[in-house]
Amino acid sequence: MKIGIVGCAGRMGRMLIETVLQTDGGELAGGCEAEGSPHQGDDLAGLVGATACGLAVTSDARALFAAADAVIDFTAPAVTLANAVIAAETGTALVVGTTGLDAGQTAQLRAVAENTVIIQAANFSIGVNLLAGLTRQVASLLGEDYDIEIVEMHHKHKVDAPSGTALALGEAAAVGRGVVLDEVAERTRDGHTGARRAGDIGFATLRGGDVVGDHTVIFAGEGERLELTHKAASRAVFARGAVRSALWSAGRAPGFYTMRNVLGFD
Ligand code: NAD
Repeated sequence: MKIGIVGCAGRMGRMLIETVLQTDGGELAGGCEAEGSPHQGDDLAGLVGATACGLAVTSDARALFAAADAVIDFTAPAVTLANAVIAAETGTALVVGTTGLDAGQTAQLRAVAENTVIIQAANFSIGVNLLAGLTRQVASLLGEDYDIEIVEMHHKHKVDAPSGTALALGEAAAVGRGVVLDEVAERTRDGHTGARRAGDIGFATLRGGDVVGDHTVIFAGEGERLELTHKAASRAVFARGAVRSALWSAGRAPGFYTMRNVLGFD
């Protein structure tokens, strides 16, 4: 399986290069960076301190998709959407790790999946996907007298908030409760907010240092509190999940898939 990496000089991009190099059955097809990136022309494996592989970082996404069986994209929403259109044209599978897509962008991504395999996850770790399942289950068992709050912390460079994972956990809780997240989500609180509205699902966002990704779902009742926590210690867990997804895409029918499909949770 030839795997291309978009955003290959980024934090996740570099981790993905390392992971593909270590994966049996996986081979680098090439890597793409933003036009004007100082890494244009660098050797792809050299970006992670490995022996040169002879593939130079390029800005030509179209050529990358043509050369790859699957492309992994951890960049920014507009970049990912442009690449999804190319993926549909070339029939190359696309694994999307980018977060912060709005509802319209997510709908566009799903539309493209009519023509090729798209696998999207706000979080590619096994642990978080289990946490989402547990959150859904607990939310279905506990009533509205248990207030649901989701707390996340990430490194200081993260640009979207709440994290895609926090929102996915909120969605899991909403599904468990049989409500629509958009109607109950309380994403920011500031000033004289008044008392908490029953049934809300609250979010709190912390940013600082080099935290890879911490998420806690709190069910706060009268006299007791249940907290489900996941902590990612290394970006390697996301990269392993994304590369596993790329391998899983081989021979799949076009469609929109998630990490739950890849893990066989559905
Ligand atoms: P980053 O800023 O370190 O890396 C993004 C890279 O994309 C940069 O190197 C940037 O130059 C590059 N880029 C920008 N425009 C481009 C273009 N047109 N073509 C090619 N490359 C381009 O960010 P990061 O920490 O690696 O995170 C990237 C995304 O992945 C974010 O949305 C983040 O939230 C998400 N993320 C998802 C998961 C998951 O499991 N789904 C895990 C970690 C991060």
